[in-house]
Amino acid sequence: MPRSLRIVIVGAGVSGSGVAAALVRAGAAGGFSAEVELVDPRPSLGAGLTYEPGGDPRHRVNVPSIRMAAVTGGEGEEEDFHRWCLERGVLEADPAGWADGLHYPARSVFGRYLDDRLRPLFAAAGPVRVTHRRDRAIAARRIETPHGIGFAVELAGGRVLEADALVLCTGNPRPELPGVLAGLAGHRRVVVDPWAPGALDPLGRSDRVLIVGTGLTMGDVVSTLLGRGHHGPLTALSRHGLVPRSRPAGHADSWTDFTADPPAGIRDLLRRVRAAVADAGRQGRPWTDVLESLRLQNGTLWSALSIDERRRFQRHLRPWWDAHRFQAAPQVAHLVEAARAGGRLSVLAGRLVAASADDHPLGGGDGGGGLWIVHRPRGGETLVGRSYDALVNCTGAGHGASFRRNPVLAALAGQGLIRPDPLGMGVEVDMRHRALDAGGRPASNLFVVGPPTRGSLGEVVGASEIVPHALAVAEALASS
Ligand SMILES: Cc1cc2nc3c(=O)[nH]c(=O)nc-3n(C[C@H](O)[C@H](O)[C@H](O)COP(=O)(O)OP(=O)(O)OC[C@H]3O[C@@H](n4cnc5c(N)ncnc54)[C@H](O)[C@@H]3O)c2cc1C
Repeated sequence: MPRSLRIVIVGAGVSGSGVAAALVRAGAAGGFSAEVELVDPRPSLGAGLTYEPGGDPRHRVNVPSIRMAAVTGGEGEEEDFHRWCLERGVLEADPAGWADGLHYPARSVFGRYLDDRLRPLFAAAGPVRVTHRRDRAIAARRIETPHGIGFAVELAGGRVLEADALVLCTGNPRPELPGVLAGLAGHRRVVVDPWAPGALDPLGRSDRVLIVGTGLTMGDVVSTLLGRGHHGPLTALSRHGLVPRSRPAGHADSWTDFTADPPAGIRDLLRRVRAAVADAGRQGRPWTDVLESLRLQNGTLWSALSIDERRRFQRHLRPWWDAHRFQAAPQVAHLVEAARAGGRLSVLAGRLVAASADDHPLGGGDGGGGLWIVHRPRGGETLVGRSYDALVNCTGAGHGASFRRNPVLAALAGQGLIRPDPLGMGVEVDMRHRALDAGGRPASNLFVVGPPTRGSLGEVVGASEIVPHALAVAEALASS
């Protein structure tokens, strides 16, 4: 009987719990046993940062319940979340979740579902045992074990876990203020991290609020503020002023194959996408079919681009890709649309130029502790300065800060065991999710799953994209 593998997974969100669930299934299928330590201070399994059970019920999943990924990964479980919602009466209890005959539950509901399914799966006796350590990993180092090179993972509570293999599933790093706003950090009405519970509480209902960023988090913030009776003017600003599309009701079918001869540059990629959309239109197909092809093939497409081309994509195409790819639940999209039409929200395209924690640089303000923000409208030369009472940073995950702010990543990078990808989006991995060391060599027993791999592997962001990656890593571990 081979010895049980000791595996430590850092992070118990969709990625970490997805790996653990796939390991349990691999064990049940036979020939593999493991002791898995799933480290995360959060009480619930699977929810991570995104689907926290206590989150605002107005924050909805952007995929209908019937198409939300089955993180537990079992056969025939594709519609498991929807069935779970039906069994628990979630859909009737939340009539506002319906749009175009589909239901978009609150993200917190998906968190409850994940915990509900994962807990018994992990508690069941079997060849793979999963223990949830409610703690934070603060360091990790390489050690020699009787069975080869492994890891010692240090937890904040003092425990040290020894592992034959380490899987990093640390997720989306918390948002950081863009450089131009750095001087506003610490201001009582500047919300650096809108994903934190109660982040918007310091805002007054009549505040003139500047929302920096116009993506999905902007939609969440507008939903929360309007839902709690905010009546002050809201302004949202981003470089292009693009807001997420509303999720169309129809099911998108992947239809174009871009991978047979993947474009080597973004110009070529853009040309072919435009041609495919035009072709789709001629055949009476929606543009979302082309987008679905890109979503499913993005790993191959991304790996065919040189680092310079990837950088160009980030600089020039990212805003368009995000606005089309990360569609909003229809309720959220309609709310944003209605707020714009009713003059409650204005969306501006432009670049932030300066900011100060004073309501006017020349004085003469009302002394109310306002903010003076200057931006350059897109395509314009003249600077525009305006006073606001509050600012909410909706610029998304602070990828650049992940190594600095996550102690386990910092410790591993400090020893040269992992390194940032060249785009600074996360941890560099090879196509098999193995972390590359400072010299670019892949480690056989150090894996990364989820958003930190997107600089290397493409779009590993949504739950449905993460699940296959989690499965691949579990298979690699089970066969090691
Ligand atoms: C605001 C928001 C809304 C989203 N909405 C959707 C949606 O509707 N549909 C969709 O498909 N996708 C959505 N996503 C995408 C999301 O990235 C994935 O769906 C998925 O939840 C990511 O899971 P994860 O486990 O990789 O990361 P996370 O959910 O970020 O979880 C990572 C976990 O790692 C833990 N962790 C980190 N460092 C340590 C450490 N040192 N020690 C111990 N634990 C640690 C954290 O506590 C956290 O629980 C959304 C993302 C965000 C940010």
